[in-house]
Amino acid sequence: MISMPQLIDELSQALGAGAVLTGPSDVAAYVEDWRGRYRGPLTAVVLPSTTEEVSLVVRACTRHGVPILAQGGNTSLSGGAVPAADGVPPVVVALQRLRRIRGIDPRNNTITVDAGCVLAAVQQAAVEAGRLYPVSLGAEGSCQIGGNIATNAGGTGVLRYGNTRDNVLGLEVVLPDGTIWDGLTALRKNNTGYDLKHLFIGSEGTLGIVTGAVLKLHPLPTAQAMAWLSVRNPEAALDLLGIMQATCGPRLSAFELLDENQIRLVLEHVPGRRCPVADPAAWHVLVELSDSGDAAELEARLEAALASALEAGLVIDAVVAASGAQRAAFWEFRHSVSEANKKGGVGLTSDTAVPVSAVPAFIEAATAAVHAIVPDLPVVIVAHMGDGNVHFIPFFSFPAWNGLAERDQMARRIRQAVNDTAARFGGTFSAEHGVGQTLVGEMARYKPPVELMLMQAVKRAFDPAGLFNPGRLLPPDPTA
Ligand SMILES: Cc1cc2nc3c(=O)[nH]c(=O)nc-3n(C[C@H](O)[C@H](O)[C@H](O)COP(=O)(O)OP(=O)(O)OC[C@H]3O[C@@H](n4cnc5c(N)ncnc54)[C@H](O)[C@@H]3O)c2cc1C
Repeated sequence: MISMPQLIDELSQALGAGAVLTGPSDVAAYVEDWRGRYRGPLTAVVLPSTTEEVSLVVRACTRHGVPILAQGGNTSLSGGAVPAADGVPPVVVALQRLRRIRGIDPRNNTITVDAGCVLAAVQQAAVEAGRLYPVSLGAEGSCQIGGNIATNAGGTGVLRYGNTRDNVLGLEVVLPDGTIWDGLTALRKNNTGYDLKHLFIGSEGTLGIVTGAVLKLHPLPTAQAMAWLSVRNPEAALDLLGIMQATCGPRLSAFELLDENQIRLVLEHVPGRRCPVADPAAWHVLVELSDSGDAAELEARLEAALASALEAGLVIDAVVAASGAQRAAFWEFRHSVSEANKKGGVGLTSDTAVPVSAVPAFIEAATAAVHAIVPDLPVVIVAHMGDGNVHFIPFFSFPAWNGLAERDQMARRIRQAVNDTAARFGGTFSAEHGVGQTLVGEMARYKPPVELMLMQAVKRAFDPAGLFNPGRLLPPDPTA
């Protein structure tokens, strides 16, 4: 039998009363997601400061049979970090006090951090050591390393440096029975059986709470060159990507595609943003090169690639950033898209990925599929094109989390049309944001039964009581 007052009492004794929040105004920031779409009741928010305190919290919750929801920066775009509207209200374990940089080993190119470190703080610590931590995304000022690991975050550097998974060497995790697993290895080679860290990366808090990590660092680029281009269509963007890869090789560090609706939303809703190219165009590409060498050499390489693309008729207009400030302004524009879409009321964010070569055909087919349901429904597209991740966003406004049933049903049909199209191209419905609450139905629809069965078996092995983020990531276990 669940006794909430007794649990809260135990948690207060373990962490101190100031680290256990229950008052409505104290917990307000933890109950609603970044986009204001999901909210739900909770038993308490706890703010542990050490791994051992996380373990005490987990043991207490497990004893009382109360669900446990890890929360990082609460920037999930799939409702992953806030309580569900139904079920037993969880204890939210907010990791913000676990924010120590535990150590940097520049000669091993590694940094060891608490899971509650904000991504931007880790990037900054790496720079201070003359290194780069390459994961970069619009929420980097508030999302945490633990959240990045739990969702296997992507962002704009994946083309060159890979996802979060590719940048993690070791983990420390509090398991569902409260045991602390110290897997903080800094090894690049370690073939000693199952590589357990990979089970936790992308597990969205369903297998344990990440409390620490060893991350890979890279050489800090000393030179950067960037251009903002307008192109006729995604096919031209794909050909341009081919030219950039052939000319610039591994120096190509970002290749992002935006359509004119996305440009307009940023201009309308985010003050101070200016579109770098003067003439309105249907499609825009942001290209970045980075290297440890000479800036002039890098710019010359970029200009040579652009000259080939212009000659091939792929590019309508191009602006090469003339300074660091201009490069920062280009990135500010790109990183403003989620804020613009939130303010513009654009509802149906998708997180599809298809093979890079299929991006243009996918965009065309998904647009046709959506228009077969709602003719002329505007679509917003922003894509990490270099890695095939397309946020294909039908312009369908939501009235937050208390939406009308009819509207929700239409939203489901449209989302399914987009994700079915991605599946036809050998793609996925969830590339970088995670499954969260939003896409659990898609797991049941698209994942092969054998994969779901294996995932349920892993879940049962780690969390037999099913207390860690119930209702997230996995559809109900038919054997439970
Ligand atoms: C403006 C904006 C831009 C974004 N751009 C991108 C982008 O380009 N690429 C991208 O991949 N994502 C992007 N996102 C989504 C989001 O930022 C990422 O998913 C991020 O990794 C989430 O980190 P967080 O700390 O906020 O996690 P939260 O939102 O707090 O949690 C996300 C999930 O991880 C779990 N979790 C959190 N911390 C832990 C932990 N320590 N241990 C175990 N489980 C944990 C939670 O339970 C939840 O299931 C963006 C979001 C915003 C608001």
